Amino acid sequence: MIPARADIVVVGGGSAGCTLAATLAGRPGRTVVLLESGPGYASTGTAPPELLDASRLPVGPESRWTAQYPVLLAGRPGTIARGRVLGGSGAVNGGYFVRGRPGDFDAWPPSWSFDHVLPYFRLIEHDSDFGDEWHGAAGPVPVSRTPWSRLHAVARAFHDAAVAAGHLPVEDLNAPGPVGVGRVPLNIANGVRMGPALSSLMPALASPNLTVCSGTRARRVVMSGAEAVGVEVDGGDGVAFIEAGSVVLCAGAVESPRLLLLSGIGPADELATLGVAPVVDLPGVGTGFTDHPEVAVPYRYRSDLPLGTAVLETVLHTDELELRPYTAPFADSVPGSGAAVPVLGVVLTRPRSRGRLIFDARDPYAAPLLDYGYLDDPRDRAALRHGVATAVHLLAAMDGVVDPHSVPTGAADVDDEWLAAHLGTSQHLSGSCRMGSDDSAVVDDRCRVHGAERLFVADTSVFPQVPSRGPHATVVMLARRVADAL
Ligand SMILES: Cc1cc2nc3c(=O)[nH]c(=O)nc-3n(C[C@H](O)[C@H](O)[C@H](O)COP(=O)(O)OP(=O)(O)OC[C@H]3O[C@@H](n4cnc5c(N)ncnc54)[C@H](O)[C@@H]3O)c2cc1C
Repeated sequence: MIPARADIVVVGGGSAGCTLAATLAGRPGRTVVLLESGPGYASTGTAPPELLDASRLPVGPESRWTAQYPVLLAGRPGTIARGRVLGGSGAVNGGYFVRGRPGDFDAWPPSWSFDHVLPYFRLIEHDSDFGDEWHGAAGPVPVSRTPWSRLHAVARAFHDAAVAAGHLPVEDLNAPGPVGVGRVPLNIANGVRMGPALSSLMPALASPNLTVCSGTRARRVVMSGAEAVGVEVDGGDGVAFIEAGSVVLCAGAVESPRLLLLSGIGPADELATLGVAPVVDLPGVGTGFTDHPEVAVPYRYRSDLPLGTAVLETVLHTDELELRPYTAPFADSVPGSGAAVPVLGVVLTRPRSRGRLIFDARDPYAAPLLDYGYLDDPRDRAALRHGVATAVHLLAAMDGVVDPHSVPTGAADVDDEWLAAHLGTSQHLSGSCRMGSDDSAVVDDRCRVHGAERLFVADTSVFPQVPSRGPHATVVMLARRVADAL
């Protein structure tokens, strides 16, 4: 049953929305409605098993738990998946829960400096490996690293090859300090992917002030002048209206900007093309997003190796790269993906390329095209070529695990064509409704939409740029902090 009114309507039950709604639910006195367009569940015990198994990502073409979007990667067409289920992308992801680096927050408004956000990183987690000033011990998200004794052979061999090549071993990738190679902090407990739906929302479901409406899509925010007064929703039985004291968009980096546009908030020319009556002219909506380009360097294992519990257990960072020795071919870890060859991922952590969402003027409700603009900048191409050379060097040194004849290419062979043919994305889409005060900013440093009232965006859309690490821990931190500010 869809309520007629709530003090706060949170749109999107993904990583940010579950965190935000669960935090608000713990504070009596205000009613909260969480809208999720995908399917829901009411307990960990009734969650779909595919969402629990952390050794597999249920995001292949047949997945029931994702929305698929068309993309252009360096001009080449493809598709990406985003979670479309209670828990969002955090319910289907790799379980890699690493914080943004202190320097990443230099691009954010001053009130989001690392010193300001560290207490919230601590609040969201309980880290079972470290109990020092950098870590939390009482937060909802369990964080740990695969014990050395249980590391997958690929993860271990990669770590040892990187150390032998002179990279610094780093015990704790979630503490500030120099970069190097180390074990990945994971939000995985006993093989279960513990995203914010399981870790935060399920325990909050009993709160009398929280209503979760799964299978309910927000169509647009209803505006009265510049004031958000409610949300138009479709729960399968026709269109309904929920009156709201405040509306918080947590629909993710594709759907939050789309909802703003459909509500009359966005670039004036785009609104005119889409035939939407303008409310606030905000040129930055849907433009200038960032994500991590990832080049897959293929190779073969020397012998059959078992599946790892996590898809990624160790990782190497340099100033601008992340090297990812995946513990299984994607054919195993992403059912339906068909990619049977193991790969070492080479990720550009501070890309210069910027992307944009392209909406279909004939049908604004159709999935937008994501044009990533990857490899536009020659410095990005040079950094990725350097990363592939490092990857090839390390693979060649992973004695006893990697078939030395399978490493396909030397650095000299890696031209732009090779990069483009092996290019994908880490699925870390960020910054399609950036936080800030410049002309392209969409929200202020409290996540309030510029020029609108009672309307917030609080998800990966508002990151000024993609952090140099996976965004999951950072978006959970952001949602936790916005809940306090609300
Ligand atoms: C396959 C994959 C693997 C990844 N692996 C990692 C990883 O290992 N580590 C890491 O750090 N990051 C990873 N990421 C990225 C990370 O999971 C996301 O950045 C993060 O979960 C995004 O959080 P969000 O709250 O912004 O959006 P989401 O979690 O995507 O939530 C948005 C939610 O809003 C809902 N929604 C959308 N539109 C509407 C609407 N109109 N009405 C109602 N509901 C709506 C969606 O169904 C969804 O549930 C991965 C992402 C993917 C897709």
